Amino acid sequence: MRRVLVPLLLCMVSPLMAAEAVSKLPFTLVIHGGAGAPGRGTLDAETEVQVRAALTQALDAGERILAAGGNSLDAVSAAVQVLENSPHFNAGKGAVFTADGINELDASIMYGPTLAAGAVAGLHRVKNPITLARAVMEHSEHVMMIGDGAEKFAESQGVELVDPSYFRTDYRWQQLQKVKADEAAQALIPPSTYFGTVGAVARDQQGHLAAATSTGGMTNKRWGRVGDAPIIGAGTYADSRCAVSATGWGEFFIRLNVAHDICARVAYGQQTLRAAADAVIMKAVPELGGDGGIIAVDANGELTMPFNTVGMYRAWIKPDGSRGVAIFADEADPDQRVNAAAVEPAKAH
Ligand code: ASP
Repeated sequence: MRRVLVPLLLCMVSPLMAAEAVSKLPFTLVIHGGAGAPGRGTLDAETEVQVRAALTQALDAGERILAAGGNSLDAVSAAVQVLENSPHFNAGKGAVFTADGINELDASIMYGPTLAAGAVAGLHRVKNPITLARAVMEHSEHVMMIGDGAEKFAESQGVELVDPSYFRTDYRWQQLQKVKADEAAQALIPPSTYFGTVGAVARDQQGHLAAATSTGGMTNKRWGRVGDAPIIGAGTYADSRCAVSATGWGEFFIRLNVAHDICARVAYGQQTLRAAADAVIMKAVPELGGDGGIIAVDANGELTMPFNTVGMYRAWIKPDGSRGVAIFADEADPDQRVNAAAVEPAKAH
């Protein structure tokens, strides 16, 4: 009897002990505000201060949850919501305009331990698209909802709706006018001028990974165009080993299935997170003619943030508790990346 009981008791106790042991893991949080950040000297001082403050505020929102032992999903949602509410990023308020002069929003979220995912696209009235993506994940049988149907679902879920004029900023309106004028003059416009998607990835104290991404897409986009941000595997992916949120020229990120490719390289190719992310962002994407960047975290809490544009708004908290905010390519990152390709002005395509 005792022989049977002891292993039985151990079986009952050990999962609890294991949970206790892993709950002490240090957390990691990384956020981005898009790979369209301008180069040094082109961002005015006041805007730079405001952008850095918004990134810090988003990082703080995620940190509060993770430091209290909260879940990575809650942390990435909270960080992304702050960025959606800031007019400085191309997501939520401050989203770019379509060719028809409206704001059309996309978002997605994914939870590593369960591979649960939710995505929304073509929204005009949802104040925080990431909230609706999460509602799709948690309160529907579906993964992706678009347009009017998604907004009907938002109503049923009590997700906050706003008048479409809420998203408008003069800065983005002027940006559309300039792009249209350039287009009329047949000028080549670097697509990276338009990137501003926001995103977050995290590993919580239980070691669970999550990723979230939200965007207004690309300035002057046409006819219901949807980019990579709401496509699970392209702009967002999270499994038990790796979580990724992307920003960049969405068409290329969809074609290369960027976020999933990075995680697949980690899972099946045994590549380190950094090697996997570099292979995709510094090689595969530019070779195909695209540009952009990603943020990622792995099961060990390691993070990486490669980008091949002149800058990427980003901020991080490493497992050792150190934190930082950066915009330009030559600012020291935790992995000390100085991105030679990115120091050059963005290519026109
Ligand atoms: N990836 C986004 C899209 O193509 C754009 C961005 O990163 O700002 O819709």
